Amino acid sequence: MSRNGHTIAIYPGSFDPITRGHEDIARRALRICDSLVVAVARTATHVKSGLFSVEERVALLEEVFADEPRISSVSFEGLLVDFAKESGANVAVRGLRAVSDFEYEFQMAQMNQELWSDFETVFLAPEVDYSFVSSSLVRQVASLGGEIGRFVSPAVSRALREKLSGP
Ligand code: ADP
Repeated sequence: MSRNGHTIAIYPGSFDPITRGHEDIARRALRICDSLVVAVARTATHVKSGLFSVEERVALLEEVFADEPRISSVSFEGLLVDFAKESGANVAVRGLRAVSDFEYEFQMAQMNQELWSDFETVFLAPEVDYSFVSSSLVRQVASLGGEIGRFVSPAVSRALREKLSGP
């Protein structure tokens, strides 16, 4: 949706935690929209064990994107299309790492189109260095003591260390 010629896109996901792959997609998205809402879904559509609370994930997003005034970080509950309408956005951005992402992403894009016919999903490809990075693998590697500094920003690396060494 273009409000006064201003295109707002929404980048929904779990972001548990945000990785450099997510960051790459968000910064690329700014090339095709004026502002981007990075939105942590409170109600997961598929069962995933969470490490960070939704509030912690949003705080990490804010820290990672502190240098970029065109990105805002929020959480939302319920249907993405409803939240997008409230936010003045009719474009969703999603990242495609590999063919394995495609089937689920394609189904979701078409379902969202059914729910709101004016809603478009744009798929972006990450830099090749990040195509194997996922939040779940980062959590696993970090919990086993592996070095994850290349895959997440320093703030996330710190938060992971604290979380995993905590009580
Ligand atoms: P979800 O829980 O909906 O899969 P994620 O937080 O895992 O959400 O990811 C949100 C979006 O970011 C998805 O479109 C996912 O494909 C994409 N994504 C995740 N990691 C990467 C990456 N390393 N490179 C590009 N896109 C990614």
